[in-house]
Amino acid sequence: MKVYLDNAATTPMDQEVIDAIIPIMQNNFGNPSSVHSFGRGTRAIIEKARKQVAGYINALPGEIVFTGGGTEADNLALRGAVDDLGVNHIITSKIEHHAVVDTAIAVGEKHNVKVSFVSFDEKGYVEIESIERLLEENKDRKTIVSLMHANNEIGNKLPLKKVAGLCKKYDAYFHSDTVQTMCHYKFDVRELGIDFITCSAHKFHGPKGIGFLYINENLQLKPIITGGAQERNVRAGTENIIGIVGLTKAMEVAYRDLDEHQKHVQGLKSYMIEQLERIIPEVKFNGDPKENSLYTVLNVQFPNTDMDEMLLYNFDIEGIAVSGGSACSSGSNVGSHVLRNIGVDMAKPALRFSFSKYNTKEEIDYTLSVVKDLFAVKV
Ligand code: PLP
Repeated sequence: MKVYLDNAATTPMDQEVIDAIIPIMQNNFGNPSSVHSFGRGTRAIIEKARKQVAGYINALPGEIVFTGGGTEADNLALRGAVDDLGVNHIITSKIEHHAVVDTAIAVGEKHNVKVSFVSFDEKGYVEIESIERLLEENKDRKTIVSLMHANNEIGNKLPLKKVAGLCKKYDAYFHSDTVQTMCHYKFDVRELGIDFITCSAHKFHGPKGIGFLYINENLQLKPIITGGAQERNVRAGTENIIGIVGLTKAMEVAYRDLDEHQKHVQGLKSYMIEQLERIIPEVKFNGDPKENSLYTVLNVQFPNTDMDEMLLYNFDIEGIAVSGGSACSSGSNVGSHVLRNIGVDMAKPALRFSFSKYNTKEEIDYTLSVVKDLFAVKV
């Protein structure tokens, strides 16, 4: 049996997405910047998609900038804020995805921008008071707060509206990497009062290499990738029409069936927690999976055995794909900056199981039977 439980790294594409892309590849090759009918046809498809995408998050079409994925969108938000909005202070966390934390550090070093890090409580939640303290201490600076909506390794969620309120109070910008939560929850950017959010299509059954940055209409960024006037002068380069159509269809499918999928996936996660606790009484979970947690992610801390180093590979041998580290460095839990920074005992082996609507209870039962076999004789 082959079981894919690494959906926080990437997801399989929906058939409806593939079906939407194929005719575009066959028929719509015109360059959207061309003035002739071939180009105009492609341009019309892109603008229709932009409008549809904006509608799902209650944004305006002009607030959506298509990018080459989540990493680029995170870069555009942070680098743009420093280059074009006078930001000289970034508040972020040490458990952000590398696309944010490495960018914040790089920008900080290059542009003499102060970078401050929030603290966590014992369950790995961002301490909201530490955000306010840092904002208060740096009142004389122009700040952008960049904190992800849900952590891709442990699943802990951030109360976006509360943080947005704090940012308003201190006249700071607020960016959130919503790569793991877009299309898994509903979003209303107007109600949230947020300045930037990042999206990546391959985390919700869309294609890789396409995402977007929502930029509030009152903010004007210059491109970090220069060389053309595409995307209203914010992102140069011929538009990825296949990706844009795929992303839009994936969003449509996700939001159409959201309630049903949330219920299904949360059910699988809860079942897995319950059964793991039954099979291995010493099992622990990193983060806070029974509370304010992304329903697709479960980070499990197993007891030590003589196969600690080989745990992920043992699952792989049995046909089960899981991850030991962050989404983009799957393969081992050695050096997970997230687990280390929330104070997890790094001597214990940890694996991330992440679920999608395509997983079944039978697959979870098979995975649990492998857990049983691996641990029954070893613990
Ligand atoms: N942000 C988060 C939270 C992620 O999980 C990922 C992917 O793993 C990214 C950003 C990067 O997105 P992309 O792969 O589209 O560049």
